Amino acid sequence: MNSKTSKAKEFMTQQLHPDGSLRHLITLEGLPRLLIERLLDRAQSYVRPLGEKPPASRALAGRTVANLFTEPSTRTRVSFELAAKRLGAAVVNLEVQLSSRIKGESMLDTIYTLQSLHVDVMVIRDAETGVHAAVAAHVAPHVSILSAGEAHVAHPTQGLLDALTVRQHKGRFDNLAIAIVGDVRHSRVARSAYHVFNVLGVTDLRIVAPPALMPELDEFGGCTRHTTLDSGLKGADVVMMLRIQKERMAQAELPDADRYFATYGLTPQRLAAARPDAIVMHPQPMNRGIEIASDVADGPRSAIRDQVRNGVAVRMAVLAEVMAPRGVP
Ligand code: ASP
Repeated sequence: MNSKTSKAKEFMTQQLHPDGSLRHLITLEGLPRLLIERLLDRAQSYVRPLGEKPPASRALAGRTVANLFTEPSTRTRVSFELAAKRLGAAVVNLEVQLSSRIKGESMLDTIYTLQSLHVDVMVIRDAETGVHAAVAAHVAPHVSILSAGEAHVAHPTQGLLDALTVRQHKGRFDNLAIAIVGDVRHSRVARSAYHVFNVLGVTDLRIVAPPALMPELDEFGGCTRHTTLDSGLKGADVVMMLRIQKERMAQAELPDADRYFATYGLTPQRLAAARPDAIVMHPQPMNRGIEIASDVADGPRSAIRDQVRNGVAVRMAVLAEVMAPRGVP
């Protein structure tokens, strides 16, 4: 077994109950296809057209969800909060500085305090790798840890909502060409997308990036690599744009915004290389005029607002799934 497979196995053991149900969600790597499909089906059942009342249930009544975010977030934090509330849970939002981290007492004290306060689910976003897994290793058996983003490594609910968006628009994962474009090197969105699309059977997965923003060669196995938009987008069914992760780069690494847009910015002209019915996605926040032109972001082929709507549905599905062993329907 190579080290990648064993890492995936280790996570799987940590994330799943012995009966195979989901306990924590830290990464999509190694999750079984059936579980992912179940989450997508459940999420789909929570999707409503805009203007209609969102679904509401009492499935998590009496339960408490805590949001612990140490990196900025708009959509993910708000949608986890709405998801929990729409299932009837109480929500607390903590502006935590986990800076002494898992090795220092303060982080674990925060976690144990929340546990003593009957928090059932902790949703954590953190800029350091390994914090989620370390917390998961310390919490009581009835507590679930959900990642809302881990450094450049994983953003599992984003991966699920991206998969749901593709499924809604394309109705399938086989025979699809999906291009992941931009700052792949620093993107947790790209990594979670890679894992989920692999599990769901997408065989034509491409990464498109300037050489400086390409990931190392030992990552994204099986993807084709393209350094021009024209070749990467050719015949693509789905174009997933990524934000340049300035916060994860040294000043000297930052690409010049105008030059980047001229070469890698998605304009209607460049999108013409993809299939005529290709959809465009972006996890947001968007740098308009740097990685994407406004007329594409707001245009008829954009699925970006569907992604946001699906985010609440996916987070409801994950919350309901981890609480299921405790009698949540
Ligand atoms: N919102 C996404 C994330 O947290 C994408 C981004 O920030 O570029 O990773």
